[in-house]
Amino acid sequence: MSKSEWIDISLPIYHGMIGGPRDPLVEMKLIRDPAKGDPVTMSQVTMSCHTGTHIDAPRHFFPDGAGIDELPLDTFIGPAQVIEIKDTVSIKPAELEKYNIKAGDRILFKTNNSSWVYDKETFQTPYVYITKEAATYLVGKKIRLVGIDYITVGGFEDREDNRIVHKNFLNGGVAIMEELNLKGVKPGRYELIAVPLRFRKGDAGHARAIIRPL
Ligand SMILES: [Zn+2]
Repeated sequence: MSKSEWIDISLPIYHGMIGGPRDPLVEMKLIRDPAKGDPVTMSQVTMSCHTGTHIDAPRHFFPDGAGIDELPLDTFIGPAQVIEIKDTVSIKPAELEKYNIKAGDRILFKTNNSSWVYDKETFQTPYVYITKEAATYLVGKKIRLVGIDYITVGGFEDREDNRIVHKNFLNGGVAIMEELNLKGVKPGRYELIAVPLRFRKGDAGHARAIIRPL
């Protein structure tokens, strides 16, 4: 192992970065600036907990649900499978059946989204999403983590459907990772590290998500 095999699948965070259509733009401003005589550079960041690569906590949908700081750390560290989805509309159970998905798996979906969505400076729709049926399928398999390569795991057109997909995963003990960039990543087995920030009772936490081939 000479050069680092780690692949960064998280998004860079920057001033003006977009999140979901209802999230504020990221605001980064200097609060200490050597150009103005300060001894150090220091920034202040204002952003949604759901902007950029992040993990949703049950509390996002259930007011009494676990916060991001209460989720087990081993959910976010360990083997993961990158599955490439051919369907350019949505992820459906039929396409998943051949993958022998098992209890405890961490599944990262690489869809057509990764090839183009992050080249855009505005929110994009339609994007490839997880259907209610596929969410039910994955919860039934008792996976522990699901990741997707855009802003939300569910579809945009039907917001109720999107809520059902989230609730189904979170109720089923499946952590949700959103806004992965899997451009250039080959499907297969990887080691994943993507530990969310420890916001007390947070509804989500940003993560630096990295993988390397197993
Ligand atoms: Zn989220």
